[in-house]
Amino acid sequence: MPKADGQAWLRDGLAITALGVAMLAGGLPAHGQVAPKEPEPATLRHNAEFAKNLPFADRRDFDDAMRGFIATVPDALVPGTGPRPVWTMKPFEFLKQGEAAATINPSLWRQAQLNAIHGLFKVSERVYQVRGFDIANMTIIEGDTALIIIDTLSTAETARAALELYYAHRPNKPIGTIIYSHSHSDHFGGVRGLTSEAEVAAGKVRILAPVGFMEAVIGDTVSAGVAMSRRAQYQFGILLPPGPRGLVDTGLGKALARAPVTLIAPTDTVDTNMDKRVIDGVEIVFKLVPGSEAPAEMLMYFPQFRVLEMTEDVTHTMHNLYTIRGSEVRDGNLWSRYIGEALETFGEGTEVLIAQHHWPVAGQARVADLLSKQRDLYKFINDQSLRLLNEGYTPAEIAETLRLPASLQQEWSARGYYGTLRHNAKAVYQKYLGWYDGNPADLDPLPPVESARKTVEYMGGADAVIARARLDFAKGEYRWVASVMNQVIFSDPTNRAARELGADALEQLGYQAEAGTWRNAYLVGAMELRNGLPRIAITGTVNADTLKALSNAQLFDYLGVRLNGDKAEGKTMVLNWNFTDSNQKFVLTLENSALTHVAGKQAADAGATVTLARETLDALTARQTTFADAIKAGRVTIAGDPRQLEELWSMFDTFKVMFEIVEPRETQR
Ligand SMILES: [Zn+2]
Repeated sequence: MPKADGQAWLRDGLAITALGVAMLAGGLPAHGQVAPKEPEPATLRHNAEFAKNLPFADRRDFDDAMRGFIATVPDALVPGTGPRPVWTMKPFEFLKQGEAAATINPSLWRQAQLNAIHGLFKVSERVYQVRGFDIANMTIIEGDTALIIIDTLSTAETARAALELYYAHRPNKPIGTIIYSHSHSDHFGGVRGLTSEAEVAAGKVRILAPVGFMEAVIGDTVSAGVAMSRRAQYQFGILLPPGPRGLVDTGLGKALARAPVTLIAPTDTVDTNMDKRVIDGVEIVFKLVPGSEAPAEMLMYFPQFRVLEMTEDVTHTMHNLYTIRGSEVRDGNLWSRYIGEALETFGEGTEVLIAQHHWPVAGQARVADLLSKQRDLYKFINDQSLRLLNEGYTPAEIAETLRLPASLQQEWSARGYYGTLRHNAKAVYQKYLGWYDGNPADLDPLPPVESARKTVEYMGGADAVIARARLDFAKGEYRWVASVMNQVIFSDPTNRAARELGADALEQLGYQAEAGTWRNAYLVGAMELRNGLPRIAITGTVNADTLKALSNAQLFDYLGVRLNGDKAEGKTMVLNWNFTDSNQKFVLTLENSALTHVAGKQAADAGATVTLARETLDALTARQTTFADAIKAGRVTIAGDPRQLEELWSMFDTFKVMFEIVEPRETQR
């Protein structure tokens, strides 16, 4: 692929989404890249040993994943407008060979095969799912007169493709209701592929979401969104070429779709736990589960069909109490309790359990078995981590010590393909005790670069460290080699030998990892050590749909996050804001390098009073226009000194998504 094209599709694909996640599947142009390497003998031994201890003869998941199959389209292909498709299973064809590749953990290989199954499936009378057309599922319920759709996939393109697949094989009923099961973008981001704002405004399509949905969407995407989107490239392997030495799976689904996330605000919320509603002849019991897998989330029970929708609280993986892209930690005790309650309340009346990722489980006994094991899985992680921290163990020690009981180890759905026991145990520590392990030597140590320089100097210099690390690499001690090479790289990022040995160690760890997320993180780290930071100019801005969804107060908070404290040093400003669309008034104050706001007021001593519609402030925030141009166009009126606004706007940082992770930032060298 010519370089210019490559840059263009990367820019398209990396358009920052509502989640703040760069949405891109597929790989970088291979031109000029250092190729991945062979598996080392220690990796071959590790993966062979791993396979011995797992129940590969149990093929029920494969039967479950194919049950009710109706049809699909070749490779689940969803073309895009650019040179690359938005979605395709084609690059994952290598998974069709029976034997796991030597460069892939055999347990992950199995999960990756399951996640490669795609199509339209009948779950029960009037309940259908489209799976494998995005990282998540679309569930379609046939109401008396119209469709009820649970979750929209993550992009308009994949959502439309899933609906078309359904219509190709089922009667052409219109969509009456869309339900967002929870506040993660792979469950609402495709909404504009199913309906439009006009249809929703006209009442033709209702959108139902759990209480707190919009607040949760915003909380997850705006404040720390840029950092999360960069880290998500590691978690999801967004720039990693698919293949036996590259992207295999995310654990939760195949990959991220490569198109922007969209959002239309819900028209109705479920506020009451166990709310029973009849929607178009379909009875639904909504069980609210806030603070489990997402801040706003709900399960659904369909008594007529004996179907239990566990959304994302029960899937075929150990999920995340902490996501390595970064997020607030989740409460394992609460999560477990919700699953237990679902089992108690709906277990006996359930014939089929579905979720918004992975495949259904049929049969009352098997449903109860899955629910009880998932309940115990999160309870075990929570309680045993707490037990160990109360015995004085620190996060790394807890992670190293904890082992699942054999009964859960042998359970495919309890294995860590997305979350892992190790990082989830650390999440429990973080929830209760925070980042500090209590040891004052760790209270205020030197930061990475200074610490690395001293360490490497004390160890006799980079060459001596690398020579010894090579011996450890030969012995298969990849965790240590990755970590000690990180020290050498942070002391001198131009040390080619250190970068290569560090990359080699990360790569072997990737080949051994059972979790798709860990494999991706290791392999992206190796790729960036070998090839440097991908040269993609992309700035992290909140996308238009999300920006529009922010309240005025939230928008001012977002601007506060962008305020550069150094540039604001010594500056004082008081600005009145007057919104013509909502009639809301605000006083915005800059003082002590902090931007604060008070609603419902105007200050008598303001330096300027700004009158504008909210959409104009959105355009100014996204730097699509300037105050000078907006004034000229009649979109803003400023009483007082307009230069204050230009000055304030010059203090806002525009974030670059592509910051360094496996090496020091450019400015620290
Ligand atoms: Zn999801």
